[in-house]
Amino acid sequence: MELNELPPKDGAQRAYCDICGGPLDLIFERFHVTVSGIEIDIDGLPMLECTGCSFRTLPDRSRFSIMQAHEITTKKDATIFKSKRKKIEDVFDYTDVPFQYDPDDYYYYPGLARPWNLGFLTPIFFNRTVLTKYDADPRYLIRYASPTYGNITYMDDFAFPFGINRHGHLIMWLGDIAKLPKSEQYYLMSENRPSDHSLGSEFYDGQIECKFTDPPQEDILFKERSNFLAAAFKRWGEKIAHLDTEVLDLARRLHRPVHDTPAQRHSTSDTLNKIHLESLNNAKLGEVVATQGIVCTGTGSLKRLQALLSSVGDATQVNKLMSPFYTLYDFRVAYSHLGSTQGAAATMRKVTDRLGLMEEADLQTIYNQLLLKMTASYTELIKILENKQPSDTSDGGA
Ligand SMILES: [Zn+2]
Repeated sequence: MELNELPPKDGAQRAYCDICGGPLDLIFERFHVTVSGIEIDIDGLPMLECTGCSFRTLPDRSRFSIMQAHEITTKKDATIFKSKRKKIEDVFDYTDVPFQYDPDDYYYYPGLARPWNLGFLTPIFFNRTVLTKYDADPRYLIRYASPTYGNITYMDDFAFPFGINRHGHLIMWLGDIAKLPKSEQYYLMSENRPSDHSLGSEFYDGQIECKFTDPPQEDILFKERSNFLAAAFKRWGEKIAHLDTEVLDLARRLHRPVHDTPAQRHSTSDTLNKIHLESLNNAKLGEVVATQGIVCTGTGSLKRLQALLSSVGDATQVNKLMSPFYTLYDFRVAYSHLGSTQGAAATMRKVTDRLGLMEEADLQTIYNQLLLKMTASYTELIKILENKQPSDTSDGGA
């Protein structure tokens, strides 16, 4: 390697792979290369590695360290530079709550170190169980922009963004955390974990790169579900759905099916059902129905939800808007027992009929249509909850 290959070429190093565009992880490895005649051997040098294709590159700061090592060695008339790198142990002075973090993340992961607010964008990692409290406590609301990027809000007092990386760990910025009340910080600290140096996430893309690619329909649907639950919370002061780890994991892994087999239909309908229907908190819905003094003909969560929504909006309209959820329910029932094909066929006729599709529609078509209809229903139901004029849903609801 030649010395002139080291300075960053097209501006600062970014956090994406040159080959596949995937996210890079920060790793600490031995760098042992002859650079313009000098053998440079540094143990534990921060490098960036693609999680998908193993492509490696160097953070800007590591490049400068190597250039510096070259210069020192040349001045000494030596030909070998050997060292073991010590980790940076800075403590950033934002809070006296002793969070565990790795300052190397801040200095070496692209895009975080700034000339101002030193250390603000240091990532702090948490076990995902940290979300459990926020989900259970009615004073907090988790709003999702996607299954891996969201905001936690506390009453109308404060809000802080978080991301979930590919290891399922939560990431937040030190500077954001330091603004929270002390009790909140101590709670967070109880779930603090060591950095895994994996920053690649929609959180990073949105917060650092201001990169907002067109989200896939799965993410749009999940976001609308989150908005719908938030509107229901505002209306009735109760969380009408659970958001446990399983739901979040399923939502993260949900993708458009590639094959159309009975097993795939079972799996797709089951996943959607778990995210959107089984996650409804039927006991809580029952309580709200009772406290609102509403007459409800059934005890199932969909019936209760429909009764509640009808009490604040036009019942016919609500009925139409609930249709995609009943359709999902039937779709799931049709493939819950893989054996009984006759009953399944009749139920599927109902499903395709309500989705406005041909009876022989393939799984991909059913999936697309179902996602679009559920998204549209959430959007309209939010308007009903917020007492806004719903748009014409002759096409979007039933
Ligand atoms: Zn790659």
